[in-house]
Amino acid sequence: MKGKIAYIPQARTLEFYEFELPDVAPGAILAQVTRTNVCGSEVHMWRGEFGKRGVMPGHEMVGRVHTLGKGVTTDTAGQPLKEGDRIAPVYYRTCGSCVNCREGNAAACVTLGIRAKRLIPQEPPHFHTPFGTHYYIEAGQHVYKVPENVPDHAASSANCALSQVFFGLDRGNLRYDETLVVQGAGGLGLHAMAVAKARGARVIAIDGVDLRLKRAKQFGADEIVDMREYSTPQARVGRVKELTKGLGADVVLEVAGIPEAFLEAINLVRNGGRVLELGNISPGLTVALPPSFITFKSITIIGVATYNPHYLQKSLQFLSEHIDQYPYHEMVDAVFPLERAAEAMEKSDRKEVTRAAVEP
Ligand SMILES: [Zn+2]
Ligand SMILES: [Zn+2]
Repeated sequence: MKGKIAYIPQARTLEFYEFELPDVAPGAILAQVTRTNVCGSEVHMWRGEFGKRGVMPGHEMVGRVHTLGKGVTTDTAGQPLKEGDRIAPVYYRTCGSCVNCREGNAAACVTLGIRAKRLIPQEPPHFHTPFGTHYYIEAGQHVYKVPENVPDHAASSANCALSQVFFGLDRGNLRYDETLVVQGAGGLGLHAMAVAKARGARVIAIDGVDLRLKRAKQFGADEIVDMREYSTPQARVGRVKELTKGLGADVVLEVAGIPEAFLEAINLVRNGGRVLELGNISPGLTVALPPSFITFKSITIIGVATYNPHYLQKSLQFLSEHIDQYPYHEMVDAVFPLERAAEAMEKSDRKEVTRAAVEP
């Protein structure tokens, strides 16, 4: 039996490769992909920003167990696993032995192995990325059973946006009764609002698009700062101070993804507060900022690129408990068959769709 996998050889070009389904090594799992998403990174790949040798797209997915490797009887949390079960994998593997893994910050693992595997692999097991019919989960890669009440549309992004902000808010130690400012009401921002509300925080959302502001309210934001109304950084800082007894936010989460937003974050946070930087991922973009500001305000800046792998289980559990409370189904607004994955990425790039999913 054969499977299919997508490859981007150059900007705005998609090819499909067909391979025999691989033998599954002891400890590994072959999954059948049921849904995968076009996330921001896939758009960057589609634009050709990920190197000259081409790239295999995809990292967010949900699927079913196709074949269990020898010795695999449970998921990473110890729940029994059999063929056909719905699962979500962490899209990378941490080493467990580097300086960061040993200190409990596996999110900063120095090896993050998946990055090397995005060139089209002629050698089995081939299926290293989920824009395809199958996905190969290596021994040691975390994988979790998806709770029955969590539909594919919600589970498929749990291994990216939700787990990352969940981990980020823990790193930032966001506590009961604290105020969180979220810069940007996209996928990461909305997930963060729901998680922050569940731990009793007050949420102020900053955005400038009607639909995104509406969603922010639906996902629990207590206050909205509309960037059209408060059109300068000074005005927004002033408004947030008004809403926080003149102090500024305890924690600011930057998920707008532009350097100016980071500069604004250190202005929005109170003295002694925490800034969580998750949004800026383009190496070439810079901003001029006064370091003395960080010194005199005694603030803490925490960068979060991925998450400790066991957070995926927390995320799936969170979805299971809150699936009826928030409109998770509205986060994806277009579904394409795998054959039309190119169109899904192109339309995402042109912002004709906000969040596209691909189904084999
Ligand atoms: Zn993602
Ligand atoms: Zn490591």
